Amino acid sequence: MLKVEGITVCYGQIPALRNVSLTVEEGELVTLIGANGAGKTTTLRAISGLLPLASGRITFEGREIGNAAPRTVLALGVAHCPEGRRVFPHLTVRENLEMGAYLRRDHQAVAQDMERLFDRFPRLKERLNQPAGTMSGGEQQMLAIARALMSRPKIVLFDEPSLGLAPNLVERTFEIVSDIRREGTTVLMVEQNAYAALDMCDRAYLLESGQVMEQGTGQAMLANDHIQRAYLGG
Ligand code: ATP
Repeated sequence: MLKVEGITVCYGQIPALRNVSLTVEEGELVTLIGANGAGKTTTLRAISGLLPLASGRITFEGREIGNAAPRTVLALGVAHCPEGRRVFPHLTVRENLEMGAYLRRDHQAVAQDMERLFDRFPRLKERLNQPAGTMSGGEQQMLAIARALMSRPKIVLFDEPSLGLAPNLVERTFEIVSDIRREGTTVLMVEQNAYAALDMCDRAYLLESGQVMEQGTGQAMLANDHIQRAYLGG
C-alpha cells in the first residue's frame, strides 16, 4: 500500500534520512522506533509531503507521492496525526474536527462521522465549543487523533501518540490505535515507547542516525539482542 524506497531527506546540507526504505501493507500496523533524533518524525513528514526528498521514491497505492503537495497526499487517504498534539489552539474542538474534513464535500457524512467519533471520544462532545488550546494534554491528544480520522483516511501516520501522557492515558491511546487498525484502517506509528510499540505491531523498523538498522515482526524485534540492549533496557 505504502512504499518508501531509498529516500534521502536533508535539512539544508545535512541529511536526516539516508536511503531509508520501508513498506506498509494494507491492514497492517507498522511501527518505527528509534532514539531521539533518529529521523522518525522526518520520515512521516516526508511521506505526508511536508518535506522534499533529495532522492528516492514514495508511492501510495501505486501512485508517486514523494514531493507531492500535502493536500494531494491527504486527498489520496493518508492522514498525519502530528507529534505534540498540534491542534489549532484558538479554534474550538468542533472547528478542529471540521478542519480534519476540509477536503470532503460529503457534508452529511462528515456530520455523521463526527457523531460516531463522540462514542469513542465522549469528552470531545462535552467540549465542542471550547478552544482546543485550553484543553488538557490528554484531551488535545484525543482531539488530534479524532481530527486525523475525520478525513476518512486509508492510512494514519501517528507521530508519538503517547508522548507526555500519564500512564493510564498512554494505555488508552494505544488501545485506540489498535481499535482503529482493527476497524480496517492501516497504521504507521512512530513511538519512543519501544516495548509497547513492538508488542502491538505486526512489523517494525528501527531507525538509527537516519538509517534503517533492523526490521522484522514485532515479536522478532522484541527478541533481538541489539534492540533489547539499546531500547528495552535488558
Ligand atoms: P524525536 O524522537 O526526538 O522526535 P526523531 O527520530 O523524530 O526524534 P527527527 O525529528 O526526524 O527525529 O530529526 C532527525 C534529525 O533531523 C535530527 O538530527 C534533528 O536535529 C534534525 N532536524 C529535524 N528537524 C530539523 C529542522 N527543521 N532543521 C534542521 N534539522 C532538523
